[in-house]
Amino acid sequence: MDIPANADPAAIGPIELVEYPHPALLRRTSPLVRVDDALCDAVERMFEIMYESVGVGLAANQVGLPYRLFIVNTEASPDAGEEMVFINPVLSRPRGNAVQEEGCLSLPGLRMDVRRPEKVILDAWTMEGEQVRLDLEGFLSRVVQHECDHLDGRLFTDRLPDAAAIEARRSLDTMRELFLGKQSRGELPSDAEIHARLTRLEAERCAPVAERR
Ligand code: ZN
Repeated sequence: MDIPANADPAAIGPIELVEYPHPALLRRTSPLVRVDDALCDAVERMFEIMYESVGVGLAANQVGLPYRLFIVNTEASPDAGEEMVFINPVLSRPRGNAVQEEGCLSLPGLRMDVRRPEKVILDAWTMEGEQVRLDLEGFLSRVVQHECDHLDGRLFTDRLPDAAAIEARRSLDTMRELFLGKQSRGELPSDAEIHARLTRLEAERCAPVAERR
């Protein structure tokens, strides 16, 4: 399809939650070098989507955006807690370890115990262009690590011990069948169309591939 001559090249278009095995979830995201109005609108929409689903965190690629950005509100409500947006996050100094049950808006119905470092340091940028460094522990540390995994194309099911991984595999296979069915009926774009959109969105707000870390 041709792009209309008056189309805004920076427009993001409608966004919605994507579920496993949508290619955006399984592809590493790219650092942002440009934060524009369209991205601010998309982040606002991400909060709406997260609250509709009663989630505590949401990564950009969970709504089909190939950017290193995630949002958090550990209270899962617009009326409580603190809304946080982290851009180009980097984790360091993992310490300790803890096991806690996790779920994921992109893996509906699946909840399993996941082992992670208890504490991490998060370095990131805010939407206002300020650099932040947080020494995290407890629930926020867990949420941030879960979201950073998303940005690297990883899901919590990639961190399960063997027996639990086999159990999770059955659910993942069912989700894959549903997803492929929707694609074959034309209810979802093909993988090639999805990758083409992701590449276009990257070109609009990320550094050229050769310059990325
Ligand atoms: Zn998740």
